[in-house]
Amino acid sequence: MTRRLPTVGILGGGQLARMLALAAAPLGIRTVAFDPVADACAGQVTELTVAGWDDEAALGALAGRVDAVTFDFENVPAATAERLAGQVPVHPNAGALAVAQDRLAEKTLFRESGLSTPEFAPVDTREDLVAAVARIGLPAILKTRRLGYDGKGQFRLKTDADVDAAWSALGEAAGKHGLILEAFVPFDRELSVVAVRGRDGAFRTWPLTRNWHVDGVLSVSLAPAPGTSDELEAAAVAHAKAIAERLDYVGVFALELFVRGGELLGNEMAPRVHNSGHWTIEGAHTSQFENHIRAVLGLPLGDTGVRGCSVMLNWIGEMPDPAPVLSVADGHWHDYGKEAREGRKVGHATVCAPDAGTLRTRLAEVAVGLGREAQVAPAIEALG
Ligand code: AMP
Repeated sequence: MTRRLPTVGILGGGQLARMLALAAAPLGIRTVAFDPVADACAGQVTELTVAGWDDEAALGALAGRVDAVTFDFENVPAATAERLAGQVPVHPNAGALAVAQDRLAEKTLFRESGLSTPEFAPVDTREDLVAAVARIGLPAILKTRRLGYDGKGQFRLKTDADVDAAWSALGEAAGKHGLILEAFVPFDRELSVVAVRGRDGAFRTWPLTRNWHVDGVLSVSLAPAPGTSDELEAAAVAHAKAIAERLDYVGVFALELFVRGGELLGNEMAPRVHNSGHWTIEGAHTSQFENHIRAVLGLPLGDTGVRGCSVMLNWIGEMPDPAPVLSVADGHWHDYGKEAREGRKVGHATVCAPDAGTLRTRLAEVAVGLGREAQVAPAIEALG
């Protein structure tokens, strides 16, 4: 008789599915990614089903051969998740996914859970936009409620004269899914809490991560976030736990926060493994990817403690030369196997070190080798 290995279905076949598959393999856990796109990069390392989100036969076949289904992509249609949930455990649950898919529902939940947010207002019409600008003030950011990611579907308004341009850019999207206007927060820092909750309610977090975005896209993460007080860390973790419990969340998620004068404001929640947790592959005892797989299968969660400090550099558009990272001590290279394309996340590097000073030296060496001094500068400065 052939031994049947536990199997996890992953909706979406991008780099997150790829890294989930790579983390599952040593545990003897198989993965099957599901994606409408034939060259989805997870297909290079795991089985890939190429089918549409509404392909009944393909979804039924997936559900029939996996022990749990999860996501590498939160914008899977709710109907697809619900269809699968009728046949197999789906984690996170469809309700949690629905909240995290909608910026208005998400920010409303944050407030109900006691986490402050930037001022916001729903916008469905041009009149709503004018009224929201009058109430919230400028600068502000107009965002699509759904399907926006990595700074896409966003328009920054600086003066009243920008209302027309904002409406031309996003008015059509308002008709489909609605928009939200948010006050622009002059934050001191951006942090994320990457957390995991098990099927039994066990809850763990990795140390807070400091993040830098460029044009709305994550560029650099540094963990543990230097200069974070125990109080701030405890507050961030308590917010993440409260939100996870309200949603009966199972798996890894990231809560993205702005810090302004010691106050935490909730920006958004990613209901999946997250780019700001990629450093955990080499920098923590158990990575976010392994713990997500453990959580969705109901296995005990692993230790989220760290090995020193880590920095993660995102590669957007095209891969740089790997040599400077491969040459530095504790430097790690991740190429997602994707074609180069403007604005696309194609890979990342992580550099780890036992202490902040050593990490600073290693990072400076990598920056010079890659000619990426500007990208790395904020992390070098934060390392003191
Ligand atoms: P989002 O897709 O909403 O996470 O936005 C991407 C990035 O844009 C954030 O990580 C921030 O750097 C910036 N951003 C988004 N919303 C705001 C805001 N209300 N105030 C200031 N910066 C923002």
